[in-house]
Amino acid sequence: MRADQRQLPADVLMNLTGGCLCGGVTYQLEFKPRDVADVCFCRECRKASGAAALPWVQVPPARFAITRGAAKGYASSPGARRWFCGDCGTPLYMTDAQGRSVGVTLGSLDNPEAIRPTTQGWMCERVSWQALDETLPAYEKAPPYDL
Ligand SMILES: [Zn+2]
Ligand SMILES: [Zn+2]
Repeated sequence: MRADQRQLPADVLMNLTGGCLCGGVTYQLEFKPRDVADVCFCRECRKASGAAALPWVQVPPARFAITRGAAKGYASSPGARRWFCGDCGTPLYMTDAQGRSVGVTLGSLDNPEAIRPTTQGWMCERVSWQALDETLPAYEKAPPYDL
C-alpha cells in the first residue's frame, strides 16, 4: 500500500468536508484510514458523472451528514440512489436501501487529496482508453466493501 493514510492507526478519525460546484449543498464526513476508497468504472457512474471513472469513499451512514441545502436523489438501480445538486449537477453521494453505507464522491471533497483510492471496480464496464492504476487491485465487478 502506497497511501499515507494506510500508515495511520485504523481508528483515527479525519473530519472532512465537501460540497457541490455552486456551494448550495455541503456535507461533512468522518473518515477512517481503513474505509474503502475505490475508483468505479461502471456504466451508471459514467452516465451519472459524464466521466469515464468516478472515485468514491464508502463510510457508514452515521459518519456522514448534510450541512447545507438538500441534494436531489435518483434511483439508478434497484435499492441504490444517487444524490446530486439539483442546481449545478455535481454528483455528491450514494445510498443503498439497506442503509449499509454511504458512498461519497472524492471529487466533491473540499480537499480531494485527503483520501486516496485503494482499489478499482467494475473493470468489465471500463472504457478501454481510461487509464488504470497498475499499483491497485482491480475487480471485474464491485470491490469488497468491508465496513
Ligand atoms: Zn450545486
Ligand atoms: Zn459505479
